[in-house]
Amino acid sequence: QHAKANKLDFVIYDPKIDQHTLETFELVNALTSAIENNELVLFYQPKLCLEKKKVVQVEALVRWLHPQKGTIPPDVFIPIAEKTGQMNTLSRWVIIAAIKQYHKWRSEGIELSIAVNISAENLKDSEFCQWLLNTVEQLKMPVSALTLEITEDAVVEDPESAIMQLSHWRDRGLKLSIDDFGTGYSSLGQLKQLPVHEIKIDRSFIQHLMSNDEDKIIVNSTLELAHNLGLSVVAEGVENLETLEWLTEHNCEMAQGFYLSRPIPEDELAQWLLSSHFSYIKPKIH
Ligand code: C2E
Ligand code: MG
Ligand code: MG
Ligand code: MG
Repeated sequence: QHAKANKLDFVIYDPKIDQHTLETFELVNALTSAIENNELVLFYQPKLCLEKKKVVQVEALVRWLHPQKGTIPPDVFIPIAEKTGQMNTLSRWVIIAAIKQYHKWRSEGIELSIAVNISAENLKDSEFCQWLLNTVEQLKMPVSALTLEITEDAVVEDPESAIMQLSHWRDRGLKLSIDDFGTGYSSLGQLKQLPVHEIKIDRSFIQHLMSNDEDKIIVNSTLELAHNLGLSVVAEGVENLETLEWLTEHNCEMAQGFYLSRPIPEDELAQWLLSSHFSYIKPKIH
């Protein structure tokens, strides 16, 4: 971890260095203290069951509320955390925060399962894998209420060890989902072996579905393939009603996207549930 930070340090003396790298270096150091300083927060985005037309789950998405730079999206700092050995700390924080939120919501009459994102770095770390199982048990999270989203890349990197870790989690009852499906070049042979329950079709295939016939063919074939393998399918990046209806007609199980809701802060979810016709959950408070 230290050696990597030093490498970046050294790079700063390169005359071709740009402002971007300098900023990256600052972020690496700042990220270390971000958790201690309570600068990380989770936003939650609803996942809709298309048969019931109701929200059944939310995905936890981390944001960094940087005191000077404002909100930094995960696309910016997750890759840095991955390269500098900080995913272990970050993912542990995310999981604990999500489980606490799960209990808090339940006490308010909000019964939703939660999906959290896990990185390739976590899958490689057998200590993390065991920690996760212990934590879920200690914090009394019903395993059936927790879904782990793992990107297709993470699995492709080292399929054998990924399949081993994932099987371990699946055997304990955790739900597993392959995120950004279609972008990670996994082979059909690997998909067959993956001990997962669900795939999430990447939003690049969904966003322009209505105007793109190739995307329709790809999504339709993916749905058929997944269903034949006994997997459930989530479409991410649903931005309009037409796409939602097309997906319903084509037997997609779940949908997520800006058409339903953007990711929102934890304390705004109750209000969203109260006002949305996509919700049968009516929270006790408010
Ligand atoms: P993801 O898991 O595929 O999450 C979906 C991303 O797509 C989110 O961006 C979400 O805001 C965005 N999105 C959702 N619906 C729509 C839509 O209809 N249109 C468009 N254009 N975008 C939509 P976000 O929150 O910036 O997260 C980006 C990625 O960062 C995530 O992709 C995930 O890979 C990673 N990430 C976020 N939180 C965590 C975390 O706690 N741990 C790990 N390991 N990765 C995380
Ligand atoms: Mg995800
Ligand atoms: Mg995704
Ligand atoms: Mg994504």
